[in-house]
This record gives sequence, structure tokens and C-alpha cells, in this order.
Amino acid sequence: PLYHQASFVASAPRLQDAPPDQGMEIAFAGRSNAGKSSAINTLVQQNALARVSKTPGRTQLLNFFRIDDERKLVDLPGYGYAKVPEAMKREWQQMMETYLKNRKALSGIVLVMDIRHPLTDFDWQMVEWCEISKLPLHILLTKADKLKYGAAKTTLLQVQRDLSRAEIVVSLQLFSALNKTGIDDVHQVLDEWFGF
Ligand code: GDP
Repeated sequence: PLYHQASFVASAPRLQDAPPDQGMEIAFAGRSNAGKSSAINTLVQQNALARVSKTPGRTQLLNFFRIDDERKLVDLPGYGYAKVPEAMKREWQQMMETYLKNRKALSGIVLVMDIRHPLTDFDWQMVEWCEISKLPLHILLTKADKLKYGAAKTTLLQVQRDLSRAEIVVSLQLFSALNKTGIDDVHQVLDEWFGF
């Protein structure tokens, strides 16, 4: 439905460059190469709204996509390439932390994890920031097509157990951009957070 109307609004290299802090935003986060861009493109049924990374870790941009006058999706910069210099990591950390703690429009975080490498240090950092900001968190275990269903289900339950100590509401699901599975479940979460 509506999510297919998503259109690019702005790329912000710094928080100052972001569109006004108005309405509602749902932000997508994920370690570089986790499959975040593919997940966003699948959810809006567009092949190239979020760029699928070719040169990882290079551009640290927040990308804003308009759903309607009141609602936006935000593609947060990926993280996790060893080659990225220390100074850039600190910059990224600062930007993410400031955005997550201060953005009034922010209504929830979708955290994208490669099902074969769940709950990295980066992911725990995101969970912690969500706890501090009391933001609801929904986790996509993506590339679920890479595992047999039984193994995917086992990982889902394990991650669920590991997250049971989190101080916020965390929901999670299997997802595959390749097989286009799990789309309806994500739309339901977005609908709820956006107040549709
Ligand atoms: P990002 O850096 O998190 O935005 O990750 P991308 O969306 O660019 O995806 C990284 C790589 O994983 C690309 O080669 C994608 O084609 C691949 N990929 C993404 N999602 C899936 C998926 O659901 N299944 C499979 N098999 N590959 C995927």
C-alpha cells in the first residue's frame, strides 16, 4: 500500500543537514552489509530507493524518505568495516547517539541483522541506545533464505532469549529480501508505530 509511495527527500552528511524534526520517523539501522538497503527496497517495493552498497563504509549519510506529509523512513549509516579509520568511527558514533537521543520525531528503530551473524557489538550498542531513549525496537533477521527453516527458527529463538534482558520492548522476525518473505510483518509494525 502506502509504503510503495516512498520517495527520496534528502541525504544528510551531518545532523544539522537533516530535514526539520517534525512528524514521525522510523529509522533503519544495521551493520554494513547486513542487508539493510535491500530490506528497505523490498519493503517499499522499489529497486533502488536505498542504495545497495557497493563501496562499503564510505558514505556516512542519513537518508530520508517521505511516506506522507507526517511520516518518514530514515536509512541510518551502516557500520562495521574494519578498514574505517578511528576518527570516522567516533564521528559515526557521535552522530548516531545524538540522533537517537534527541530526535523527537523518532518513533521506532528497525534493526537489520544478517541471520548468520546476529547480535554483533554494533547491534548491542543499538539496543543500548534504544533503551536509553526508550525507543521500541524491531529486529529483522534477514537473509533467512541462507538457512534452512529449522535453523532459522532456532536462531530466532536464541536471539529472542538473548534479548530478554533488554529493558525495552523488542520484537523480532525472519526476513528475506531475496525470497520476499516477512514483508507483511514489517508493514504491521510500521503501521502500529506510525499510528495507521
Ligand atoms: P547494507 O550494507 O546493509 O545496506 O546491505 P545490502 O542491502 O547492500 O546487502 C549486502 C549484500 O547482501 C548484497 O550483496 C545483497 O544482495 C545481499 N543480500 C541482502 N539481502 C539479502 C537476502 O535477503 N538474501 C540474500 N541471499 N542476500 C541478501
